[in-house]
Amino acid sequence: MDFNSSSNSSRNTPRTYKSRKQPPKKKQKTQVYLSLSSKPHHKTCSACGMSYDTLSPDDRATHHKFHARALSGVDISLPLPSSTCVAKVVLKNNVHATIHKLGSRDLPRSTRTALDAALRICNAELSAPDEGIADFFSRSQPAVYVCITPSTSSLSSSSSSSSATITGLALVERISSGLFMSCSSGRILSSSSSSSSSPPPTPVLGISRIYTAHSSRGLGIARALLDAICASAIYGLVLPRDKVAFSQPSDSGCRLAAAWAGEVMTDRELAVDRGVDVDSLVCTGKEKKIRVYIEKS
Ligand SMILES: [Zn+2]
Repeated sequence: MDFNSSSNSSRNTPRTYKSRKQPPKKKQKTQVYLSLSSKPHHKTCSACGMSYDTLSPDDRATHHKFHARALSGVDISLPLPSSTCVAKVVLKNNVHATIHKLGSRDLPRSTRTALDAALRICNAELSAPDEGIADFFSRSQPAVYVCITPSTSSLSSSSSSSSATITGLALVERISSGLFMSCSSGRILSSSSSSSSSPPPTPVLGISRIYTAHSSRGLGIARALLDAICASAIYGLVLPRDKVAFSQPSDSGCRLAAAWAGEVMTDRELAVDRGVDVDSLVCTGKEKKIRVYIEKS
């Protein structure tokens, strides 16, 4: 069909419209729910942390989907390109996994959508700003690392054709400065409290987020992600762990960072952190500090 000639022939002809009687506008109907119970119908799920209205079918459906993904991970419909794989690991319980480093380019839409869903679950769990994957990719030399494990079909949220699930996620960016934080108090240690003659190494990589799906916790996914990040973030270089800093770690993030790269606090740092004299310290040699950094908003 030649649409062109058709449009040419009508170009000089004023378009006319038949006057039609406008149908009466329908009034917008709103579904309301009558609560006959005195019990509050807003609920926060203890498993996934989502707050929702138990009387709203939409809210319940949203929670159902979010809950399944938070517990089991986010299914991916397309296999990730083998060129993005930076590590193959065997986790606890003999779970085989691959770790992939993903940049902003050349991500199929379905993969980008799955990453976005995983990030939003991570944000909700960490009470972090609800930043999407597109926002993160606008940062300084960003990279997203994902841990992919075989799909656990009985727990999968939706697609039965999916064979793999994002069960771990880490967002990484380049940084140029960091600070030490006491793991026990959560306070930043001032540089003057350090008794070391040399300044701490300046971190170059910041872990903006790191997250593991509930049902896959305890397998070692977060540590595997961190090791893969050190080995592959900068081409041709294996970064020492003291070059990595964490952004506002949660309690579990602090424990992970301390176990992975924590350093024992000096007596002087401990005394300043506790607000006591060095001579009055009782227990020393166990408390740890970790490297943290402040994200640019
Ligand atoms: Zn839930």
